[in-house]
Amino acid sequence: MKGDFLVPPAFIQALRDQQSFLLVSHVGLDGDHLGSMLALQQALKTMGKKVVAYLPESVPASLSRILFGLEHTTQQLGDEKFDAVVALECPTLGRMPKGFEPRKMAPLLLNFDHHQDNENYGDINWVLPEVAALGEMTFELIQHLDVPLDRSMATALYVAVLTDTGSFQYSRVTPATHRRLSSMLQAGVATDEVSRSVYRNSTPNVLKLLGRMLNDLTIDERDGVCVAWAEITQKSLDEYAVRPEEIQFFVDELDRVEQADVVVLVREAPGGKIKASIRSRNHPINQVAAIFGGGGHSRAAGVTTDGKLSDIRKALVDAVHTELTKLTKA
Ligand code: 5GP
Ligand code: MN
Repeated sequence: MKGDFLVPPAFIQALRDQQSFLLVSHVGLDGDHLGSMLALQQALKTMGKKVVAYLPESVPASLSRILFGLEHTTQQLGDEKFDAVVALECPTLGRMPKGFEPRKMAPLLLNFDHHQDNENYGDINWVLPEVAALGEMTFELIQHLDVPLDRSMATALYVAVLTDTGSFQYSRVTPATHRRLSSMLQAGVATDEVSRSVYRNSTPNVLKLLGRMLNDLTIDERDGVCVAWAEITQKSLDEYAVRPEEIQFFVDELDRVEQADVVVLVREAPGGKIKASIRSRNHPINQVAAIFGGGGHSRAAGVTTDGKLSDIRKALVDAVHTELTKLTKA
């Protein structure tokens, strides 16, 4: 069936054979890697393994309210060594948390991802770019490990798939995705509670800032290619007392513009960085992100870089136009 895939026997065997694991994921926390990490942590613990899940960033209340097992994660690592590191959703070593060196932590590195720009840096690589969410791969992995799916694991995996598929809307969602979701629901996921917590959690100020962003939304149409873009400054975040993690969904709101081929949200981020989110309807845009040192999926990519907000935004929108004009004329 469309969306079915095999779990590599070497990957399963490594999880069975090794006794202690360190789980790590990319910077810029999201529901997919967090949910996958918590579910995998619990499955390995059920198998009697020692597991440390390294999570240096704080988890927003929208996720911590509904996910179980966060108390078993750690924000700081000690001198402890492990049998294996499992890297979840890290296409490159550079996407791992600052200062984290997997080769110093364990002799075995498992690379577990669904990004097409993954560099296969692991000793064992399980990378499936056609799969919508890492949560789907984690679901299959847990089945193959013969660990029964309980409500907390199912909820974590449901959050992973929900958030990475734009609520099951994106093109990589398959019949198999829904079959997996069905098993999660059978295990007792409270879908209404999850949706309320993840999507209906904004403060009035966050919505006011969203209103301002939408009010300033710009349409840049050239040669039949339409880009909708918006900017968020640190000043406006300060003015509304809104934290960066509260506006992660803003790009999805921009993505409502009917005629847009691509939407681009560029914002000032902590540490003087500029963070851009790019979404595309019909054409790959991850190579545009790569020009700026970023990456991601074919239709959803991001960039984190230094520079001035308006300069980066202008260069990025120009690059999107150049790339799409090339692609549409090809
Ligand atoms: P978002 O725009 O929601 O932050 O991210 C969309 C996709 O792009 C995700 O798959 C994410 O991992 C990837 N992405 C976001 N920011 C960056 C970045 O700074 N560098 C790279 N390589 N990928 C990114
Ligand atoms: Mn993902």
